[in-house]
Amino acid sequence: MPKETRKEILSHLKRVVIKIGSGVISDHESGKPPLERGLSRKRIQGYARRIAKIHKTGVEVMIVSSGAVMAGRERLNLNRVKLDIPEKQASAAIGQSFLMRTYEHYFEKQGLKVAQILLGHHDLEHRQRFLNAKHTLEALLSHGVIPIINENDTVTVDEIKIGDNDTLSATMACLAGAQLLIILSDVEGLYTDDPRKTLKKNEAAPELISLVRSITPDIEKRAGKSKNPLSRGGMYTKVQAAKKTMSYGVPTLIVNGLDSKVLDQVFKGHEVGTLFWAGPKKVSPRKHWIAHTLKPLGAVTIDAGARRALVNNGKSLLPAGVTQVEGKFEFGSPVRILDDQGVEVARGLVNYNSADLARIKGLTSAKIRDMLETGFYEEAIHRDDLVILEPAPAT
Ligand code: GLU
Repeated sequence: MPKETRKEILSHLKRVVIKIGSGVISDHESGKPPLERGLSRKRIQGYARRIAKIHKTGVEVMIVSSGAVMAGRERLNLNRVKLDIPEKQASAAIGQSFLMRTYEHYFEKQGLKVAQILLGHHDLEHRQRFLNAKHTLEALLSHGVIPIINENDTVTVDEIKIGDNDTLSATMACLAGAQLLIILSDVEGLYTDDPRKTLKKNEAAPELISLVRSITPDIEKRAGKSKNPLSRGGMYTKVQAAKKTMSYGVPTLIVNGLDSKVLDQVFKGHEVGTLFWAGPKKVSPRKHWIAHTLKPLGAVTIDAGARRALVNNGKSLLPAGVTQVEGKFEFGSPVRILDDQGVEVARGLVNYNSADLARIKGLTSAKIRDMLETGFYEEAIHRDDLVILEPAPAT
């Protein structure tokens, strides 16, 4: 089954997003410790060659590349573990132009043009800006250009950051309607346990998981945090990225990008790395954006009856079913919807600000209509603005 799955994905492939992590394009050969490493030209040259080969077969390629901070650090000789924010941003500014210069140089040798796209969370949370980014990407791809995307680190601080490029690459794969996201990592894929741990006597060695069809709590637990100071999220953010794309019917493949042959193997349909794919299930682009791109500003807890109405019967959330309101949010803000066990079952855009919702929670429509002079809505969150999260939790 897994082999057919991979061939099937490749047979429909028109557009692919390839995420290249800092750990993968840092100069391992230099023998320096991770925080002193700069960009590996050799590796970028290798990727340019392989990506050009893929592009020649008629597949459009977008790259999400990290490495700006790493390259800038090296150029400024900043090898302390902790950098302050301006130092990090200065490193990103220096590194980003160097990163692009290097990509441009090697892609030009392959007869291909590249374009730089820098995005922040603000560009993604406004629907119009989000769609603008999509139109720009479309125009670039239609001219045969390879867009190279990174977070706009120079002007964003942690609070308003997308945070990591695994997340950004998943958002881009969905935004651009790609049929595959490939994450080039510095490990082979997801293992049953930490592959680097020392085994106890008679303990079986951890095995590589070839196919994941659903992101269960068990899978999330296996995705431990990274020990490499150059990789921001390790396997955890990769699995979260896969969750995002799977809910949109886009498969994610995590492979070892340090292996120079890996992209060739992937495109031959070889069973390398871990493939996350649940099949071609797709929510509407807007609903996917609500659930997976917007950052929730608060949470509402609902009772068992409201949970059934939402999850099983496809209904809207009424104020009567709300039992608790957390956080400070405004009309139209994204919020998490938790059941009475605290499990997040849905996300949506709310019709009341947090103060009003806290006042009217548990009340019937008739009572609320009397209480509020203006701004009455039947629904706390309308069905059109509400997304049940996958996998749909059982009742
Ligand atoms: N945007 C960061 C950089 O270019 C990397 C973020 C990440 O690796 O996830 O250095």
